Amino acid sequence: MSIDWDVLATEARTMAARAYAPYSDVRVGACGVTDGGRLVRGCNVENASYGVTLCAECGLVSDLAAGGGGRLVAIAVVAGDGAPLAPCGRCRQILFEHGGSALRLFDGTPEGRTLDTLLPDAFGPDDVETRRGGLT
Ligand SMILES: [Zn+2]
Repeated sequence: MSIDWDVLATEARTMAARAYAPYSDVRVGACGVTDGGRLVRGCNVENASYGVTLCAECGLVSDLAAGGGGRLVAIAVVAGDGAPLAPCGRCRQILFEHGGSALRLFDGTPEGRTLDTLLPDAFGPDDVETRRGGLT
């Protein structure tokens, strides 16, 4: 699948403008595309209790599930200045669950980068299946 980074980055910038970030003033928007070609979006939503702030990627994954699911193929995450922003550690794990290590991330280059460069040796659904129990 050819990735149209311009569309993903533009939509992510639109999402960043809609962010609710009154505490940090760091706006983040995300837009991804599924294996079925559907666009999914999210923006960060802060909270007075900082620990329960929702990242843009969380909203995007909720949009993914709410819209019928699918696998993420590529995602653009940008800050309010429009430049690429690397997902936080928690979101790298969340994105791995729904896009795997080959998920491509917008970095301003034509190829983008893959999630495995940000989350090597990721723990995922296969590990859960193969590592249950453990008592012999
Ligand atoms: Zn995050």
